Amino acid sequence: MNVRRILLSLCMVVITGAGLAQSSHRKFELMKLPYALNALEPVISAETLSLHHGKHLNTYVNNLNKLIAGTKFEQMELEEIVATSEGALFNNAGQTLNHNLYFTQFSPEGGGTPVGNLSRAIDAQWGNFDKFKEEFTKSATALFGSGWVWLSKDASGKLYITQEANGGNPVTHGLIPILGIDVWEHAYYVDYRNNRAAHLDAVWKIIDWAVLNRRYTGV
Ligand code: MN
Repeated sequence: MNVRRILLSLCMVVITGAGLAQSSHRKFELMKLPYALNALEPVISAETLSLHHGKHLNTYVNNLNKLIAGTKFEQMELEEIVATSEGALFNNAGQTLNHNLYFTQFSPEGGGTPVGNLSRAIDAQWGNFDKFKEEFTKSATALFGSGWVWLSKDASGKLYITQEANGGNPVTHGLIPILGIDVWEHAYYVDYRNNRAAHLDAVWKIIDWAVLNRRYTGV
């Protein structure tokens, strides 16, 4: 191989490398709501939804994109960023992941009781749905300050109810999130004022159990 050919192949490596870096440049998008702004009323008003999705989540996504620009995190999936970052990046990536899961677990046709394998797993662990609901609600009511309550599962399918402060998500403990309830005041203050318990009581009416069962069964 002469010098010219070596230089030429080096050039190719640089060009290909640059191309790859550019094509894997990730920019997260604000997720689209799978229902109309007023579809979850009266449980969650159009005003709350509009602020929560259009302002709060939008800000988290914009901050996330600014913070990953030019870093190794640009090549990662959202879950991986949440599991491996800290500080401002963790807060904004966590809140982006949390709200992506949150807004897609609701439906105007939601409510009722769990279905499929998730239903069987809940019954096996808590005895029945009412008992699970009671435990989950207790945990969400007791959470001090801003945060989330999660139902998640481990690799064996065992379920967990956990509290996370601020933008936390069960992926940081190696768990797979199934249901996440936002107890930041921005999630309920417009509709319920300081009455978090009333919001928690109503929110079951819009839970899409088919979505949660798919998260549980991994399909
Ligand atoms: Mn929120």
